Amino acid sequence: MEIICNFVIEDYVTMQPIVNIPGFEEFKSQLRKHNLRATSQRLAVHGAMMELVHASADMVAEKIAETSKVKITQSSVYNILAQLALHGIYRHRLSINNKMYFDVCNAKHLHMYDMARHTFRDLPANDIFDLLQEQMGKKRFRGYKVEGVDVVILARPNKKH
Ligand SMILES: [Zn+2]
Repeated sequence: MEIICNFVIEDYVTMQPIVNIPGFEEFKSQLRKHNLRATSQRLAVHGAMMELVHASADMVAEKIAETSKVKITQSSVYNILAQLALHGIYRHRLSINNKMYFDVCNAKHLHMYDMARHTFRDLPANDIFDLLQEQMGKKRFRGYKVEGVDVVILARPNKKH
């Protein structure tokens, strides 16, 4: 089964798109596909990520401590997140405050990064990816092969907010 994150734009003014986050069944089938066992720790990490959507290991560890009975150290949380990202089940995101964030949704989508609060918001994937990929794919970087394109819109909240 392929995880597809669907976006429904409810309101462009508040920019609060609703992201269809992979549920436990989809997550388990992804684990199976990569020969990873659905351990209680991995499921606890996914449970936290379903709520947080974009988060660093310490945020996930904190959420698990608050909401789950599963005992897990922050470094184990990091290892699980990193492993899931390595398998393409999650995605890495690097924030400006030098923290490694992980994204629960591995489908193509844009991000808006709040430079004051260091938070990510999902925006719908659109033709920008295909256009960039098409253009960048033709470029040659000595010693490298272009693997993909990531788009982050950098934004700061208005004074009003
Ligand atoms: Zn995202």
